[in-house]
Amino acid sequence: MQCPQCGIELQPNSSMCQGCGSKVNTQPNPTQQNGYYAVSKKNKTIGVILIIAPFAGLIFILVAYAITQFIINAITQATI
Ligand SMILES: [Zn+2]
Repeated sequence: MQCPQCGIELQPNSSMCQGCGSKVNTQPNPTQQNGYYAVSKKNKTIGVILIIAPFAGLIFILVAYAITQFIINAITQATI
């Protein structure tokens, strides 16, 4: 974070500039904002997974059913 008056690098969480002595608005920390966005993105990813999960489960069951049928057919043909 830089001082808007003189432009020098400010100490973290400082309410006053060491260079010119002007009061600095304590704005949200950019890293905290990034953390918030990362969490919201993670929640979005979890939401997408929750939406896709039932379809993925259905596809898995269909594939398992198809494989089972294929194996049963193979065994039936082998015995006949
Ligand atoms: Zn300053």
